[in-house]
Amino acid sequence: MDKVLVTGASGYIASHCIAELLKNGFAVRGSLRNAQRQDEVKNAIKTEADISQLEFCELDLLNDTGWDEAVSGCDYVMHVASPLLTKEPNDENEIIKPAYEGLLRALKSSVKHKVKRFVMTSSFSAVGYGHVKDVFNESHWTDTTKKIGAYNKSKAIAEKAMWDYLNKLEPENKIEAVAINPTLVVGASLSSDIGTSNIFIQKMLDGSYPVVPQVHFGYVTVRDTAKAHVAAMTHPDANGKRFILAERCMWLAEMNGILRKNGYQKAPIRQAPNLLMKFLGLFNDEASAIAGFVGKTKFTNSENAKNILGFNFEDVEAGIIGTAKQLEELELIGK
Ligand code: NAP
Repeated sequence: MDKVLVTGASGYIASHCIAELLKNGFAVRGSLRNAQRQDEVKNAIKTEADISQLEFCELDLLNDTGWDEAVSGCDYVMHVASPLLTKEPNDENEIIKPAYEGLLRALKSSVKHKVKRFVMTSSFSAVGYGHVKDVFNESHWTDTTKKIGAYNKSKAIAEKAMWDYLNKLEPENKIEAVAINPTLVVGASLSSDIGTSNIFIQKMLDGSYPVVPQVHFGYVTVRDTAKAHVAAMTHPDANGKRFILAERCMWLAEMNGILRKNGYQKAPIRQAPNLLMKFLGLFNDEASAIAGFVGKTKFTNSENAKNILGFNFEDVEAGIIGTAKQLEELELIGK
C-alpha cells in the first residue's frame, strides 16, 4: 500500500484530501503543527473514510525539525499547508515566510527521499494577479512586483520556488511534481473548523457588508479539489503540469445571488462603485489588495484538469449552499 505525507492535516482542504486518499486505498501520514489536534482531525475524517490507515506526525512550516523523518517511508508528498488570511498582515513576510520556507522544507526532504511525485497545493493566486487578461490558463503567472495582497504574493512566490528548485537539480536527483491551482474553494468542512475560505462566505451572510466589491473569480467545490489532488498525484501525464481548478467564474454578487435564491437574504447583491473601492484602497490595506482588480473579469477554462485528468467539475452551487448550511448549523450565521 502506497503511503502519502499530507501536510497541514487539520486544514479544510487537507482533511478532504486525506479522506479521498484513504477512500482510494492509500495510507496517509498527516502532519500537524500541534499534535494535540490528532483526535479532532481523526473524528472529522472518520465521517468520510475508514481511518485505520491514518497516522500523524508533527511539523511546523517555520521549523526544520522532523521533515526528513516525516517524508521517510512515504511514496508521495502532498504539501497542502500554507497560511491563509482574513485580513492583510502588517508585515507581508508573516505569511510569505512560512509559505516559501515551508514549501522548500517539504520539497527538499521529498527530493532527498526520492518520492514518486510531489503535489503542491498552489492557488489561482499564483496565476491571475497583477495582470489583466480575458481568460487565464496554466501558462500565466502572477506578477509579484504589483500590489496584489500578501496572500496572492505568498502563493506565487512559493510555487515559483518549487519549479525553480526542481529545474536546477541534476537529472539524477529530479523528482516528479505537479501544482494544483484552485480558485475559491467552497463546500462544507469535515469539522467545525470551517476553514478560512468559508469565513469569506460567512462574512457575506452575517450582515458584515451592506454592499460587495465588483470582484470576479472562479469557484470549485472542496470535493473536486481533493479529487483533483489525488488524480494529479497518480496520472501518468500529469508530471510537470499546473492544474487550475474552477467549475465556473462569476462576480461575487452572482455568488450572493445563489445564496439569496436559497433563502439567505442577508447576502448583499448591490455592488460598491469601483471608484469608491479604488479610493478606499488609498487608505485601507484590505481595499488596496483588491483595488487593482475590481471591475475586471477573471475567466479560466481549467484546461489541464479537463484535458489531462479528464475532469468533470461538479456544480459549485451545491458547495456554496453546503457551506451556508454548515454555517447555519454551527450557529455562525442567521438566515
Ligand atoms: P486552512 O483550513 O486554513 O488550512 C491551512 C493549513 O495550513 C492548516 O492545517 C494550518 O495548520 C496549516 N499551517 C498554517 N501555518 C502553518 C505553519 N506555520 N506550520 C504548519 N502548518 C501551518 O486553509 P485551506 O483552505 O485548507 O488551505 C489549504 C491550502 O490550499 C493552502 O495552501 C491554500 O493556499 C490553498 N488554497 C486554498 C483555497 C481556498 O479557497 N480555501 C484556494 C486556493 C488554494 P493549523 O490548523 O495548525 O493552523
